[in-house]
Parts: sequence; C-alpha cells; structure tokens
Amino acid sequence: MNIDAKYHPTPEQLEGFAQGTLSPGMNVVISAHVELCAICRKSVSELEEAASEEWLRSTPDRRASSINFSAMIDSIVDHPQIKGDRTTADSVSEIHMLDHSVTLPRALAKVASDGLVWRQLAGGINQATVTLDGQTQCEFLYMKPGSQVPVHKHQGNEVTLVLDGSFEDELGHYKPGDFVVRTAKDLHRPASEEGCLCFAVMDSPLTFTKGLARLLNPFIRYRFRRATSAAAH
Ligand SMILES: [Zn+2]
Repeated sequence: MNIDAKYHPTPEQLEGFAQGTLSPGMNVVISAHVELCAICRKSVSELEEAASEEWLRSTPDRRASSINFSAMIDSIVDHPQIKGDRTTADSVSEIHMLDHSVTLPRALAKVASDGLVWRQLAGGINQATVTLDGQTQCEFLYMKPGSQVPVHKHQGNEVTLVLDGSFEDELGHYKPGDFVVRTAKDLHRPASEEGCLCFAVMDSPLTFTKGLARLLNPFIRYRFRRATSAAAH
C-alpha cells in the first residue's frame, strides 16, 4: 500500500521511531504511516542507517571484530515477527464499517486483531479504545458523514492517522495516510463531511473548551487515568 500523504510525522518523531525511543502507542501509529508513505520510509531507513553507523563507530574495534555482525543482522531480519515489518507488502486485515470494509496497515491490523469494542459518542462519533502502554491513549475513531467533534485543546500531543474517508479542521483537510499532529497549543474542531476512519494516539487527555462538552472533562481525565493505569498492570 502506498499513499501520497500530504501531512507527515515531525522529524523528531521519525528520529525517535528510528531510534526506538517512542512509547508503544506512538510507535504503532508512526509505523502505520511509514508503511503507507514512501517518503517517510526513505527517511526512516536513512536515520536507521546513520544510527547503526554511529553505533559501529562508537564500538571499539576489538569488540567489533569478535562479533559476526552480518550473522547477527541476518538472524534479526529472519525473525518471523519482525520480517517485512516496514516494507510495502500488502496489508493483512480489514476493519468492517457499517457499509464497507477498510484495509488496515499491518501495524494496526495487529492492534485490532484482538477485536474492537465500539462505543457511540455524541455528535456521530464512534470510538474503539485500545490499550498499548501506560503513557498513551489509543483509539480507532469512526466519524459518521456530517459529524463533528466538540472544540477541544490538548494538554499534550495528539496524532491522528487517517485510514479511510477524510476530515477537516481549521488548519487543513486530511485524507488517507495523512498524519495530523496537534500539540498543547492547538485548539481545534475536527469535522467530517464524507465520514472518516482514523487511528488516534494521545499522550495526555484532551480538554473540551466550550459548552456542555466541558462537563465531560472530569470523565475524560478519569477514563484516561483508568486506561493508562490498566496498562501499567
Ligand atoms: Zn510520510
């Protein structure tokens, strides 16, 4: 699967991904984008190459000569769970929406493979939360055609990967493969005219800023704490 995405992870996020320093939740969503996006795939492989050269440079010669690196790398590459993880090979799984099916990038197919429990939220939004670690809240979001999320801002970072359909906010219109990054400074109001399936990762709870939706804030914070503490056990 290859998509011409217009919005990509930040250079810092790609670097963290290549170096393996991100939380599992952030790792999954970037991995899914990288699977779809040839530009980021190239950046990541260059970053990985630079990191491994740096590692080899920092390893004293006597140790380097005593290890058979090519055998070691072959054994890592041959590992069934890792093999082909960041290639362009076909995805393996679909997610079934009300009226059609969407093929998922493999990183997300794995996440969804345990089964998703969808909950209906206000405004035509459906949500299926998945717990990947203790630092992030991850969810599949399905926005029905014509739906709108209340205005909100974030206490941390939120990234959203569009999987099917499209959505828009004050800053742009986002299509499949687009990787939308919002930070604590941003106030936004996503809406979807044609309907949209996304995967979103938040590193802290979001805060609604207007009207009745504000009443949800304590509940959201509670749910986030519960989701993250569940992951910690
Ligand atoms: Zn990209």
